Amino acid sequence: MRACFLDRDGTINIDHDFVHKPEEWNWIPGVPKALQLLQEQGYKLIVITNQSGVARGRFSLQQVDELHEYAEELLKEWGVEIDAWYIAPWHPEFHEGKDPELLDERKPGTALFEKAASEFDIDLDQSIMVGDKATDLIPAIKLGIKPFLVESRFTDDKLKSWADENEVPFYRDLPQIVALSSIISTSEDTKQHSF
Ligand SMILES: [Mg+2]
Repeated sequence: MRACFLDRDGTINIDHDFVHKPEEWNWIPGVPKALQLLQEQGYKLIVITNQSGVARGRFSLQQVDELHEYAEELLKEWGVEIDAWYIAPWHPEFHEGKDPELLDERKPGTALFEKAASEFDIDLDQSIMVGDKATDLIPAIKLGIKPFLVESRFTDDKLKSWADENEVPFYRDLPQIVALSSIISTSEDTKQHSF
């Protein structure tokens, strides 16, 4: 089983900072369609998201879950199902009295990737991870998942040189990865060859 691991804010939806209400949920244009194509190609769709707003007391884990249910409802129009949302609701500065090991769930920790891999029997070296920050892609590199960087308001020269140094391909967004990288063999290709 292969997976497309996905960061959330800045990768599938626009990052407005601490997004936690349905009215703050805006797809990055073309993402639902890109998810549909990935799903058709047999990729499990697994979102792995840091939500320190929970640790900070800005919103509850239940609000995060409800937001994800809302997003899933919207995706029905495209016939897309997100296989799982893994949430790290922690932050090191707001972690007193909690098990320190839980912090490894927070990217760049690898714990949630490993949990997903075991729960879905994912073949990591057949899988990809898409994110807009180095912290999304460091765990992928560690685990042998193919990383892809996308542009967001966090893109700067430092991030671009990090991507260069680590041979992480950089694309405008998820739809562009699906259209231009070789992770998908589209029916278009098949059509072109057969005509
Ligand atoms: Mg992000």
